[in-house]
Amino acid sequence: MNCWHCNTKLIWGGDHDIDHEDEDYCMETNLSCPNCGAFHVVYLPKNETEEPEMWEHYCHEEKSMMATGKGEPCNWCGKEEEDCESCS
Ligand SMILES: [Zn+2]
Ligand SMILES: [Zn+2]
Repeated sequence: MNCWHCNTKLIWGGDHDIDHEDEDYCMETNLSCPNCGAFHVVYLPKNETEEPEMWEHYCHEEKSMMATGKGEPCNWCGKEEEDCESCS
């Protein structure tokens, strides 16, 4: 990436694993600008709240598209993913 201030290509200084030190971020990357001397620190957010895998179908009980957790039948109509593969 380039310097925020002067748009010169930054020099990568290193990655620091802060997974166990910070609640919200897992990695700190520092970069410095050889032109203006600006120091950039980039924090990479943690990805803990990963979206569970879902499958979707048009639910005739709910009369709308419903997202259901992988491997689980629909709460409303009881259909499973396999039953709905051809009905999307
Ligand atoms: Zn700069
Ligand atoms: Zn359904």
